[in-house]
Amino acid sequence: MKQSQLFTKTRREAPKDEISKNAILLTRAGFIHKEMAGVYSYLPLGLRVLKKIENIIREEMNELGAQEIELTALQDKNLWEKTNRWDDKIVDIWFKIADGNLGLGFTHEEPLTRIMAEYISSYRDLPAYVYQFQNKFRNELRAKSGIMRGKEFLMKDLYSFSRTEEEHANFYNKVKVAYEKIFNRAGIGNRTYFATASGGSFGNISHEFQTICDAGEDSIYITNKEKREAKNKELGIENLEEKKSVEVGNIFPLGIRFSEAIGLYFKDENGENKPVVMGSYGIGLGRLMGTVVEVLSDKKGIVWPREISPFSIHLLSLSESAKAFSDEVHKTLEANKIEVLYDDRDLRAGEKFADADLIGIPAQVIIGEKSLASKTLEVKNRASGETREMTLENLINELI
Ligand code: ATP
Ligand code: MG
Repeated sequence: MKQSQLFTKTRREAPKDEISKNAILLTRAGFIHKEMAGVYSYLPLGLRVLKKIENIIREEMNELGAQEIELTALQDKNLWEKTNRWDDKIVDIWFKIADGNLGLGFTHEEPLTRIMAEYISSYRDLPAYVYQFQNKFRNELRAKSGIMRGKEFLMKDLYSFSRTEEEHANFYNKVKVAYEKIFNRAGIGNRTYFATASGGSFGNISHEFQTICDAGEDSIYITNKEKREAKNKELGIENLEEKKSVEVGNIFPLGIRFSEAIGLYFKDENGENKPVVMGSYGIGLGRLMGTVVEVLSDKKGIVWPREISPFSIHLLSLSESAKAFSDEVHKTLEANKIEVLYDDRDLRAGEKFADADLIGIPAQVIIGEKSLASKTLEVKNRASGETREMTLENLINELI
């Protein structure tokens, strides 16, 4: 894509009403637009990152044998009354509309359990795993962390339906491994811990994936650095190292709380009626994206990990005389299905460098007088700042 065609522009100044690093950098670089506190729109560059994250998660969910669906945002009061979660004293983050008779979903255990009750009746129908990507609505009080805490935010929510606690535990462990892969691919695996937490309203042990981050609203106690294991602060523990962290995902055993309340039963091998054992597993995509910005950016701007970068290459053409060669490089890279943001704008080299460092694409290909003379490319690593000279052919071979 030619940068001259991108409708967004970078900004030198930080927006006055933002305090979080992720919101400041993502706004300056033109990835997001703030509608109001805790409510952000995704612009072309931001949406590309979000979709990359979505696709990584989708691949790992499909690998688990889960099936993708899409539920509605509008929620039925009668259904949520069955689990006692309509009451504002119990769930204080609802956005309700239509005189309080409809709500905007903040999670989706209730509607999915009701759907599954129509299809599951025998042990032969189980286990089943279902997931979706959907905007959730939560009237969060503390919406000061940019896209890490939205009032409207995209979540991947997976739900498991098992016959026994044992079958449930087996799948739960597989999700743990899938989550580790997701956070590795998103570039934050080495600082993300598997933290044991209390189960909140469900009274069980649950687990959170917590990324060490100064801007985090949580904190964890590290119990095993090598295995990246920790305990949530709520469990409280002395003599362990405490670190600020962000909850990028969590996995939750739900037991039979929802299946009993909504009526999701199956007949086992002996013809006995039993409630289905459930689990739920969330990841906030915006929170993950914001966390990556928080932990990997530097003084110059964002640094995207390869797999979630909006483009693979940022091609910078530094002068009018470099244009023909740059056009050719652009065409050849795109013909090889490599995603390129091509800075073809009529701007000074210094401005192009500053923009490229702010936007954070991991590899910058710089075409100036030097490359024209040698017909080689100068390839700069955004994270380390190191440059290498290579032919176009070698670059393509490295990327595909
Ligand atoms: P928190 O304690 O941070 O509010 P939570 O326990 O309410 O999180 P869940 O309800 O388990 O979170 O949601 C699943 C995942 O969705 C979280 O692990 C997180 O990644 C993400 N998430 C939760 N709330 C938000 C939010 N307001 N904005 C963005 N992502 C969120
Ligand atoms: Mg919350």
